[in-house]
Amino acid sequence: MTKVSPISAGLQGRCPTCGQGRVWRGYLKFKPACEACGQDFTQADTADGPAFFVGFFVLIILAPFGFIIPMADQPIWWKILLMVILAIITIVVSLILLPIAKSLLMALQIANKAEQARFED
Ligand SMILES: [Zn+2]
Repeated sequence: MTKVSPISAGLQGRCPTCGQGRVWRGYLKFKPACEACGQDFTQADTADGPAFFVGFFVLIILAPFGFIIPMADQPIWWKILLMVILAIITIVVSLILLPIAKSLLMALQIANKAEQARFED
């Protein structure tokens, strides 16, 4: 078996061990295991990491428009329309990036054997 890049596999939503099987069962729901190699996906817990990274990235890009639009010398109805469009773009981009970030973090956890800290016996 050739070595699979966890970043490439994660960005494509593929198994980080074999690079073949899909990791998704539904929106933001992992399958219990890879159908190609049997890799257990339940051991990885991304928690709220994907939401943090996606929120941080999306707001760094889009938040300045939230300050620029109200200060623009335009009619109020135009500013409200632009703010509604900005809110919709922010939500849609976040929803698109969330599964990508989640599978990327899961792939990195599995590839780096990340797990809870524990005392040795
Ligand atoms: Zn696999």
